[in-house]
Amino acid sequence: MTAAPICRFCASPLTRTFLDLGEQPLANSYLTPEELAAGTERKHPLHARVCSQCFLVQVGDPVSAEAIFDTGYAYFSSYSPSWVAHAKAYAEAMTRRLQLGPQSLAVEVASNDGYLLQHFANVGVPVLGIEPTANTAEAARERGVPTEVMFFNAETGKALAESGVQADLMAANNVLAHVPDIGGFVAGFRHVLKPQGVLTFEFPHLLNLIEQVQFDTIYHEHFSYLSLTAVEQVLRANGLRPFDVELLSTHGGSLRLFCAHEASAHAEAQSLRDLRAREAAAGLGRIETYDGFAPRVEAVRRGFLGFLQQARDEGARVAAYGAAAKGNTFLNYCAASARDIVCVFDANPHKQGRFLPGSHVPILAPADVAQVRPDYVLILPWNLKDEIMGQLAFIRAWGGRFVTAAPQVKIWA
Ligand SMILES: [Zn+2]
Repeated sequence: MTAAPICRFCASPLTRTFLDLGEQPLANSYLTPEELAAGTERKHPLHARVCSQCFLVQVGDPVSAEAIFDTGYAYFSSYSPSWVAHAKAYAEAMTRRLQLGPQSLAVEVASNDGYLLQHFANVGVPVLGIEPTANTAEAARERGVPTEVMFFNAETGKALAESGVQADLMAANNVLAHVPDIGGFVAGFRHVLKPQGVLTFEFPHLLNLIEQVQFDTIYHEHFSYLSLTAVEQVLRANGLRPFDVELLSTHGGSLRLFCAHEASAHAEAQSLRDLRAREAAAGLGRIETYDGFAPRVEAVRRGFLGFLQQARDEGARVAAYGAAAKGNTFLNYCAASARDIVCVFDANPHKQGRFLPGSHVPILAPADVAQVRPDYVLILPWNLKDEIMGQLAFIRAWGGRFVTAAPQVKIWA
């Protein structure tokens, strides 16, 4: 018998399951025809647990970072137009709110190719990017964003501070869920942030995951599933505190948490108190709440398998749209395969001609929809449902219909 794994943050034994998704391939490892034929696909346990002390929901059996990032897949943030627009709006709002100028410094952790900091640099605010991947850091420098190649943690944060780096604004947007050592990562900010500086974290909100049964957002690359309840404890353990929050629509509902030094002058906003009360009312501070999630996921699976059976009975052809990571968790948990779903359409040319991990559904270009003539198109990235239904509205010409699977199966007329 092996000992229970321990919490990434508070080191308590993790004895409670949030959701056990069994053995799953890495969600972003799309197979070439040669890899599919070779049959060497690897699977790893994907078991989300919740800490009964600090309520951090976490994937407790980490796959090595090497395995995750060695998928020949470099992600450049600037490839996504909607993400770049989101970044520009953030830069404008923060420059105004904090009255940043030529004497200020804006630092982003996991700054990628400079997609965010470029907007500060363009209005004359000095910037510094911190990015562990050398080739994306190089792309950032080419667009005028000075970037240090390093992993951010307590030691590197301290070293930066000792070299004179002191930030008015620090941004770590959509990175907190991806760091294995969440406490050590947050500790670094304490060193680099000025006494009255502001730090923002953006992350998908666990409350939405639970309420909307967004279990497909659980995959190996996401180590933590975050609530204010859990993050506030991590901050306070490191001399920091939240003081304001904005609710964002990104990733099915995210939080943008504004944080500062414990002793700073930033007053706590009503929106933060409201969120704390909402999480308490939803039971995020009680272990029983987390125990109730897996049965709801099982109900989603049953509903989806019922839909596939109905489609078989009708002799209908089911295709999917969007070869995103979350779709892979969903299809593999439901044990759906290319027998159930003839193909998946995706606009990314690097994915076309490959196969989804686990389910082995072939990936085709959206231009192929008219040849395939599916009776049902299952929308896997549900957060883009309206956009996708608009783009593929023409399937209605042959009676095609759209399907979404969570929080329950819905066929859109
Ligand atoms: Zn814990």
